[in-house]
This record gives sequence, structure tokens and C-alpha cells, in this order.
Amino acid sequence: MGLIIGCHVSFKNDSQMIGSVNEALSYNANTFMFYTGAPQNTRRGEIDLKKKEEALKIMEDNGIDINKVIVHAPYIVNLANRENFDFSVSFLKEEIERCNRLGIRYMVLHPGSAVSSSREDAIKSISDGLNFILDNDYDVKILLETMAGKGNEVGRNFDELKTIIDNVKYKDKIGVCLDTCHLNDAGYDISEFDKILDEFDNKIGIKYIGCVHVNDSKNIIDSHKDRHENIGLGTIGFDNLINVIYNNRLESVPKILETPYVSRDDNSKEREYPPYKYEIAMIRNKIFDKELIDKIRKDNTRN
Ligand code: ZN
Ligand code: FE
Ligand code: FE
Repeated sequence: MGLIIGCHVSFKNDSQMIGSVNEALSYNANTFMFYTGAPQNTRRGEIDLKKKEEALKIMEDNGIDINKVIVHAPYIVNLANRENFDFSVSFLKEEIERCNRLGIRYMVLHPGSAVSSSREDAIKSISDGLNFILDNDYDVKILLETMAGKGNEVGRNFDELKTIIDNVKYKDKIGVCLDTCHLNDAGYDISEFDKILDEFDNKIGIKYIGCVHVNDSKNIIDSHKDRHENIGLGTIGFDNLINVIYNNRLESVPKILETPYVSRDDNSKEREYPPYKYEIAMIRNKIFDKELIDKIRKDNTRN
């Protein structure tokens, strides 16, 4: 089995997963991740099964395995908040149904944030929510993402994730998504990734890892910030990220880039150009290109 590498792509209501897979192919990716609508809201359209079939055909023709494609739940859903609990549960149930209709087997979820309660209660609320959402009707797993620990985010260490998972009834429906930027910002040293995996294996079990978000970080270790940086340009660095991507204990796990779009020039705040084709090429060659940003800008302004 070779490297399974992809990135965040769009999912538009008119083209649905056809647009997503074509975007992924344009970056030379062999997997991808998308939100079923805008990441910051919960408005969602109907899943069109004819479009799904067409997308599956494109995937089959290009060697993309639907079993490695990821959906990301919107990040405003918060199972730790008892006030919006019923809405979050029903939305995530529908999201699982949408994944099931699309043939997607993994949905990444930010565990939640303790807004008006203790961390203990937040953690309890999250596992309660998951027990309402998960059932054996659908072959869709929820992957809890490791978080940077910004504000009162839950999931800033493996102990918190373990407590949630311990309280989930259907163990084969729950897993974890490691995010390298979030791990770094939470205090884990990515340069010692095998030690991180050992700790994870002891506390939770390697087999629970269903996805890795590969991002560099704009901030130093233990900063609790969560600002993603392009591959090789942040505090984690290219070689450490390559060691994560090619770690043989995670060979069958899809690696997904969520690195920032590149601005037109240093003065522009607007992020316009997707970096993924270039980053995926660097990752496949295992060679860092110091001119990455300049190259992306040049290519995009050429015509
Ligand atoms: Zn995420
Ligand atoms: Fe992530
Ligand atoms: Fe993040």
C-alpha cells in the first residue's frame, strides 16, 4: 500500500462530490476531505445519489478509495454545551446519514468546548452525545480530533480523548484524528512522533487512529493557539512532518492537509491560491522547496 495523501476540498451543492474529487485530482491527491456545506454553519442540502454514483466512477477510474475519504463536521457544533445539546445531537445524526448516503465511512469531529461547565462535565456531555448519535445502523465512524487546547477546548491531550472513548458504547464506531498543528500547540513534540504514538497506543490504541491532519504550525509548542501554517514553513518543520506522513505504523491511515491558502503578495490578507498541489508534490518527493510561496504566486498570476 502506498501513501494516502489528500487535502481539504470544496463540496458545492451543484456538483457535490464530483466537484470534490475533481479538485482533489487536480492536486494529485489520492484522497480528500470536505465539509458537506459551509464549515461555520449547519445549513445542508440534499445528497444527490446520481452525482454520488458519478463521483464514485471518477474515484474508481483514478484509484481513489472511498473508504479513505473523510467528511469534517462543521466546527460550530458543540456536544460539550448542554444548552444546544439536542440540536447538536440531531444535526450530527443527520450528518452521519449524509455520510452514509455518500458512502463515506469517516467523519472528523471537534470534540467540543467547555463553555459554561467544568471540563469533567463537558467530557461527560460529549460522550453522552456520542452515545445518542452512534448506532449500528450505519457503517460510519466518528473520529474525534486532537485539539490545540485553545480556550476551553476538550481533546487537548490523550487522557481526555480516552475518557470520552471509554464512555462510548459502540467502540467500533469511534476513533481519533491526529492533527499535527493541534498536537504541537497542545504541547506534544512532533520531532518525537514515535513517542507520541507510543503514548497514544498505551492510552487508547493505535488502531483507533483513522485520519491524520498534516499541518505545520505558526506557533511554538504548547502555545494553545491553533493557527495552521504551510508545510515546512512553520515551527514543526518539513522533516518532522515527513516522518509523520511516512511513519509505517500509520501507513493505511489517510493524511489530509488543511494548510492555509496563499495570498497574492505579502501585503494582501486575502488568501487566494490553494497550496495543495505544491505541498503534495514536496511530500511525494520528500524534498522541501524553500521557494514554495513564490512558486505558488508565480504560477497563479502567469495568465
Ligand atoms: Zn478539524
Ligand atoms: Fe484538523
Ligand atoms: Fe485547526
